[in-house]
Amino acid sequence: MKGYLKGIHPMLKENITELQQHPTPFYLYNLDLLRQTLQKAQQEASKYDFHVHYALKANANSPVLDEVRAVGFGADCVSGNEVKAAIENGFAPEDVVFAGVGKSDEEINYALDQDIFCFNCESSHELEILNELAANKNKVAQIALRINPNVNANTHKYITTGLEENKFGINAWELESVLSLLQKLENIKLIGIHFHIGSQIQDLSVFKNLCTRVNEFQEWFLSHNIELEHINVGGGLGVDYYHPEQQPIPDFEAYFSLFNQFLELRPGQQVHFELGRALVAQCGTLVSKVLYIKKGVNTNFAILDAGMTELIRPALYQSYHKIENLTSSAEEVRYDVVGPICESSDCFGKAVMLPETNRGDLIAIRTAGAYGEVMASQYNLRKKAEAIYL
Ligand SMILES: *Cc1c(COP(=O)(O)O)cnc(C)c1O
Repeated sequence: MKGYLKGIHPMLKENITELQQHPTPFYLYNLDLLRQTLQKAQQEASKYDFHVHYALKANANSPVLDEVRAVGFGADCVSGNEVKAAIENGFAPEDVVFAGVGKSDEEINYALDQDIFCFNCESSHELEILNELAANKNKVAQIALRINPNVNANTHKYITTGLEENKFGINAWELESVLSLLQKLENIKLIGIHFHIGSQIQDLSVFKNLCTRVNEFQEWFLSHNIELEHINVGGGLGVDYYHPEQQPIPDFEAYFSLFNQFLELRPGQQVHFELGRALVAQCGTLVSKVLYIKKGVNTNFAILDAGMTELIRPALYQSYHKIENLTSSAEEVRYDVVGPICESSDCFGKAVMLPETNRGDLIAIRTAGAYGEVMASQYNLRKKAEAIYL
């Protein structure tokens, strides 16, 4: 990990002359770091025979999916087109899981035709519809119940998904009626339970709480004479947005070993994870050029040619991304770093200390590999930023 220890990302620095030739803004991906991250995750998960499904919604670019497939991970999808992207990219259908509160008939039919491994179902109404659509095709769909465990992820409220007030999953008090419903549905087969409580979770004790809840649900199912083969604990492991060099790879060792320590498993049970952000966030950088410097009342604005259309996380979740000037090493000055879009929330960072910045300087917005490019929009009729892989 030596190369990432200090200062501006060496990959960016080494390639600076080449990068300066590219039209901005663009996404830059470090496939080497991606590979190292995937390999580390794979190595730690395999210690316990855990199965990892990569959450495509974090980043579905083909070169990224190729690397994910190369380490043998499956695919976690939340739309029909993600299922399609996974399959067209070479993931085996038996390694594909499909979650989401609002699967359309078209999406379900497509996934049924592909014989995917498992539908993670989020309501009894969905179970009825899935059963009906599977019956039309004379198929039996494998399902896991996505249960809302009412565990607080201690993360931003927009990325908290495991509380009873959230729209996701089946609440504990509904399970009894779901079980009696399942007995009537002949074209679906219950193979497991599924949880996903939120994203960017850095406090590992949250996952310990999740394990406790999973153990309780397991007891409940056993008391109803149901043995579940698959336990899917979702994703959500966070990354260090503040120190991308010091912590380029999340602590997968601690993460997986925690589940090994606290999950109570029955013989033959398989444990599944659905990691997105933790695998791809650090390998991506949004590179942008400074268009203008403008004096404000209390600050200077550095106006970039990238905005919330390329990376919406700061505007949407008030999230922090480390910002670096790749081409200046002058004395540091304070800037509000903003985009060109006609919204005041189009701001990447307030009061950011940067070396004195001029028109034409290249700016790196770090840790943008997850929920960056996939959330890009054409607002203001902007054109889509290119992706470059190094
Ligand atoms: C988004 C999502 C994930 C991945 O979350 P990360 O925080 O990126 O790890 C996993 N499972 C489901 C069902 C999701 O919706």
